[in-house]
Amino acid sequence: MYTVAQLIGGVWGAGGDDGEFVVCDPSDGSRVSTAPIATADEVGKAVAAAREMTAQWAATAPAERAAALHRAADAVADAADELAQATTAEMGKPLADARGGVDAGIGTLRQYAELAATRGGRTLHGDPAAVDFMAPEPRGVVAVITPWNDPVAVACGLLGAALVTGNVVLHKPSERTPATGWLLARAFDTALPAGVLSLLTGGPETGAALAAAEVDVVAHVGSTATGRAIAAAAAVGGAKVLLENGGSDPLIVDADVDPVWAAGQAAQGAFANAGQICVAVERIYAHRDIAEDFVDALVERAAALRVGPGRDPDTELGPLVDRRHRDQVHGQVTAAAADGARIRVGGTLPEGPGAFYPATVVDNCRHDLTLVREETFGPVAPVVVVDSFSEALRCAADSPYGLAATVLTGSMSHAQRAWRELPVGTVKVNAVFGGAPAGAAHPRRGSGQGFGYGPELLDEFTAMKAVHIEAPGGGHW
Ligand code: NAD
Repeated sequence: MYTVAQLIGGVWGAGGDDGEFVVCDPSDGSRVSTAPIATADEVGKAVAAAREMTAQWAATAPAERAAALHRAADAVADAADELAQATTAEMGKPLADARGGVDAGIGTLRQYAELAATRGGRTLHGDPAAVDFMAPEPRGVVAVITPWNDPVAVACGLLGAALVTGNVVLHKPSERTPATGWLLARAFDTALPAGVLSLLTGGPETGAALAAAEVDVVAHVGSTATGRAIAAAAAVGGAKVLLENGGSDPLIVDADVDPVWAAGQAAQGAFANAGQICVAVERIYAHRDIAEDFVDALVERAAALRVGPGRDPDTELGPLVDRRHRDQVHGQVTAAAADGARIRVGGTLPEGPGAFYPATVVDNCRHDLTLVREETFGPVAPVVVVDSFSEALRCAADSPYGLAATVLTGSMSHAQRAWRELPVGTVKVNAVFGGAPAGAAHPRRGSGQGFGYGPELLDEFTAMKAVHIEAPGGGHW
């Protein structure tokens, strides 16, 4: 059982006047952690304390900030097993997956520690008697509001980039994973000057107070509805907003691919982390020529997954984050079935404790079903049969979201059409996951705005200043 404490203005244990909340293990309902709920007043005090620290941290040499981030990465590496166990206990994902998220986070911290000092400004060519240049500066106070589905990897990217560029940061982890956020803050705190990073815990109200506070940037990773509420709140105070939000990523299965291999890709994309990945496969457009064999193979894969608690090393499919979320997932599946779709495997609420939901394949879907159009965020693979690659592209593009898309095809011209025509941030051909390090994209439509990762995230947390210097009286120095 974790007892989470807040870190405000360099003081552990501060705040919590609004009581506390409890997180239960989604595999068996047992209590995992308690955490304070930060009041709006405490949020205000934390922002004021952060503001006090901005000048000192901004004046710290970039190489020194980078060294601090390397030390933070070391401390996170030392706590890696504990962080992975807390993640699994709080949100249910298989332990190896949780550990992968921690390792990804450590890698990101080290990348930002190396990259930040190399990203300077520019010199400009103006009047030869003058000096003109552009100098990067930190933006000031950054609020980082993160989700539960990959809590360490996501937080490390935003915290690392914001801190190493000289910003003072307030982190509010998800109310589903407060102990994971607390362990992470403890690791960072060993490496940073006191007051440079604060940790606030609580739910949507705490996040809303932070978004409305006098901060310079609000960086949010989470659902589209929350992102829009944050953008509206931040607009009042004028903070810059960075949003990495929900998606409904399509998978296109072209007529010329091996349907069994394609089913393996689809299963990985739809069922990893029980479908709770922003770039999970959320909807599948399968060409009629291979659709039957593809769905049969996908059903087989779904039925073969080993279900269990995330802490069990054999588990391939852990529980969903909680029963409230499971009800939403199941509601979308049953509504689709009532509207003519056919559940081929899964689709039933299991008996027993926890928030388990079976890997589910639904065929005979229409493109306009909510299950297809909306983000489900569960282990559900809805399949729409299409008659041509053009129809698949049209359906894939017709979405309120624009995060990523995958195309399985043997045709280079189809691959080229896909990356040119799909209005999404990332296009993957013949692999549902993967991509080169340092790749970064702008999400489209309801999926967000700005760069949430990659070297460009350093620029998001940086304000550029143009400087023009002349000698007095129009003379020379
Ligand atoms: P969420 O938006 O509900 O919560 C995320 C954070 O926002 C939490 O800390 C929460 O307390 C806070 N929050 C909630 N309401 C708020 C409000 N009104 N004002 C300010 N803060 C508020 O999302 P979630 O359920 O934790 O995460 C799942 C979602 O995150 C999915 O939609 C998923 O696609 C998305 N996600 C996106 C990416 C990406 O890179 N695009 C990555 C991971 C997750």
